[in-house]
Amino acid sequence: MAQLTLKNIGKSFDGTDVIRDTSLDVKDGELVCLLGPSGSGKSTILRMVGGFETPDRGSILIDGQDVTRIPPEKRPTGMVFQSHALWSHMSVAENIAFGLKLRRMPRRDIQAKVAEALELVGLADYGKRRVWQLSGGQQQRVAIARALVLEPKILLLDEPFASLDQHLREHLREELRDIQRRLGITTLFVTHGQDEALALADRIVVLQGGEIEQVASPDHMYRAPETRFVAGFIGSMN
Ligand code: ADP
Ligand code: MG
Repeated sequence: MAQLTLKNIGKSFDGTDVIRDTSLDVKDGELVCLLGPSGSGKSTILRMVGGFETPDRGSILIDGQDVTRIPPEKRPTGMVFQSHALWSHMSVAENIAFGLKLRRMPRRDIQAKVAEALELVGLADYGKRRVWQLSGGQQQRVAIARALVLEPKILLLDEPFASLDQHLREHLREELRDIQRRLGITTLFVTHGQDEALALADRIVVLQGGEIEQVASPDHMYRAPETRFVAGFIGSMN
């Protein structure tokens, strides 16, 4: 079980409120998309959940445990960034093994875990390759494997497919959804693409200017947007 709760989170940078009094409950096994235009605060929320930023106000709970001030490497979260997050001088397997080595897992167990993670993302034969030898889509699969190998309670993805072409993006989206369902892992997925959110999410959170506009299932959000902004952004005006 992994439930995520944001309680009245606030964050400012240089005196400007970037996240205003935001609360959200993500249920066990749910995939929630944070959707909004550039600058709406999506990454800041994700980074606070992952521990890369600390909120000025409010708290973050995972399974009821307050993690607000726990550093990223000690949180039960795994993060996948848009790009440039793999170590290009290391092999694929070394990239995935890195966090396990930090945890001082025995070498044989590491090998088994890495093999399992590579299998999960469809890259079973790629362990020995160098990261720079892989395509963009393969690199993002490795990034997902690297996050999942640590068995986080919450998976965090920040526009992981944004730099890929549309065909590949749609393909990886389906793969991710499949992996997420199989593992039943609670997931927060940041995107500025409404089609991506509609295709992936159990529920969508629409953000604007650091505030939540609406939280709803894709179907509900599409049929019954509550604000003009959501209607415009989701692409239906009724
Ligand atoms: P999004 O991911 O939705 O594009 P962000 O969360 O990255 O939005 O940013 C929200 C706002 O916060 C933007 O105006 C951005 O410029 C600002 N911001 C984000 N991180 C920082 C930072 N480290 N220092 C100053 N301003 C920041
Ligand atoms: Mg962002």
